[in-house]
Amino acid sequence: MLTSNPLRLSKLYAPTLKEDPVDAEIASHRLLIRAAMIRKVAAGVYSFLPLGLAVLHKVEQIVREEMNAIGSQEMLMSIIQPAELWHESGRWDVYGPELMRLEDRHGHGFALSPTQEELITSLVRNELRSYKELPVSLYHTQWKYRDEIRPRFGLLRGREFLMKDAYSFHSTQQSLQEHYDQMATAYGRICDRLGLEYRPVEADSGQIGGKVTTEFMALADAGEAELVYCDCGFAANTEVAEARLQPLQHTVDGLQKLHTPGVATIADLADFLGIPQAATVKALSGTDGQGRHTVLFIPGDHELGTIKANNALGGFTLLGEEELLASGLVKGFMGPIGLPQNVRVVADKALKGIPQWVVGANELDYHFVGAALDKDFSIETWADLSAAVPGDLCPACGLPLKGARGIEVGQVFQLGTKYSVSMGANYMDEDGSEKPFLMGCYGWGVTRSLAAVVEQHNDEHGIAWPLSVAPAEVAVIPLTVGDSEVEPAAMRIAAARAEAGIEVVLDDRNERAGVKFNDADLIGWPYQVVIGKRGLEAGEVEFKSRASGEKQAIPLDTAIDQVLRTVREQRTRYR
Ligand code: ATP
Ligand code: MG
Repeated sequence: MLTSNPLRLSKLYAPTLKEDPVDAEIASHRLLIRAAMIRKVAAGVYSFLPLGLAVLHKVEQIVREEMNAIGSQEMLMSIIQPAELWHESGRWDVYGPELMRLEDRHGHGFALSPTQEELITSLVRNELRSYKELPVSLYHTQWKYRDEIRPRFGLLRGREFLMKDAYSFHSTQQSLQEHYDQMATAYGRICDRLGLEYRPVEADSGQIGGKVTTEFMALADAGEAELVYCDCGFAANTEVAEARLQPLQHTVDGLQKLHTPGVATIADLADFLGIPQAATVKALSGTDGQGRHTVLFIPGDHELGTIKANNALGGFTLLGEEELLASGLVKGFMGPIGLPQNVRVVADKALKGIPQWVVGANELDYHFVGAALDKDFSIETWADLSAAVPGDLCPACGLPLKGARGIEVGQVFQLGTKYSVSMGANYMDEDGSEKPFLMGCYGWGVTRSLAAVVEQHNDEHGIAWPLSVAPAEVAVIPLTVGDSEVEPAAMRIAAARAEAGIEVVLDDRNERAGVKFNDADLIGWPYQVVIGKRGLEAGEVEFKSRASGEKQAIPLDTAIDQVLRTVREQRTRYR
């Protein structure tokens, strides 16, 4: 909360801007800067001005309350972490250039924390000893550092950002599962209280390790994640969704080699043959995790899922133009018939049911139609390779999936024993044996979710904060400063609300009405009480809801009560 109540805008450091910052591509980035919430320090690094900090504190507090409610205990860990811990877990080398590293004057290596598994594991490993003390769940809200390759979109992808991260320790899978479920429920509640429309989605576990994981996605066009979802409740990141693809069949009488001059793309091939792209098969040539030359086949209308390919092949890099030439394969005309012996072949599971393929002939300007699986060619390995797209069939219920974009605001993981084994963190079990802890970790992006709220709650005039995180709940706006009636009326209303525990700002600046209206809409106070000379003569003030834009003239003598009632009612929506 802003420190004094009612707060006088004339005293607040809130330099709002009329112009959009040039480098801001999306609404939250633009508006958080224009509304005097944040200021850029360096790429992906921001300072919070008083208004922005007020919001940040509220977001943090909501997250805190939901963590406390499920019995996670708050603590605070340092940002600076000794390199040795990262060597122990093996992540010093695998984390890559995202890890911000530094050395002290003695040449000792350190990392600025991008996440805290190492530190928490080393913290508990000597002090949490018996199964009787488990489970334990700890969390903190601390600045994190990741030297992102492309910091952008303001607070959405920063290099310095605030994260709430929780870690839990268990002796049984059941106990881990229970806490994981509690966390997921808590994350849903946090979204509700922040006013975020969201979906929990199946996800990949990435760098952190472990297997069971769910991402919480705030739906927004500015989001970097692509999702598929279904009304039955299924939702997943397209990178991992095990969707059922619908490749079409194009059947002919036996294998036919066609002259297809210059037809080197799937779109051209489909046009040339007069068939849908889904009836063709796309080939990609690359190197798998073991360095073997590998050709992948996927349905023509789909793209390769990078994460899926990495998981299935232990890594996969596409060949460059020159490498491809050197390999003897023909770009745009690759297929499963007549591949060199040493090439590994992997095909998307979705193509299993397609008896005849439309594919390249491994010869410039030639394709095959009617290439029969298991007769004209065979496939060694089948894998889930294509990223799902809207229209694929839901793996849960079979209906076509819908698409959306999302901002990952949080993620929960079951880590299992990855860190406890590599870092030797054991407890004594009931039977007297030493066992590694089962661990869970649960991250929530505090600064990122703040920006996600703005992405979902804005219009052409500015931000429209949900009441739960607004820098203040009501703005009282006297239109003429120094007027013998307007000013005392405004003061009275502002003071009465403040006394009643409502957060009020008084726009006592000596500014024109237009400036005050614009700023109020830009900053996004949920409610505005506008007090003008003419209204007062009729015994009325204007009450405006920022989100709906609805304006109402209300009698001066009941104004205080009415605003109190509205704010209190609205507050219960976010509890
Ligand atoms: P992303 O895939 O977006 O890079 P991540 O999966 O690497 O994120 P986690 O390690 O799961 O991120 O971190 C937990 C949470 O921290 C994320 O869900 C997100 O809300 C937040 N977060 C991660 N990276 C950033 C960042 N660069 N800027 C702001 N918030 C971030
Ligand atoms: Mg994540």
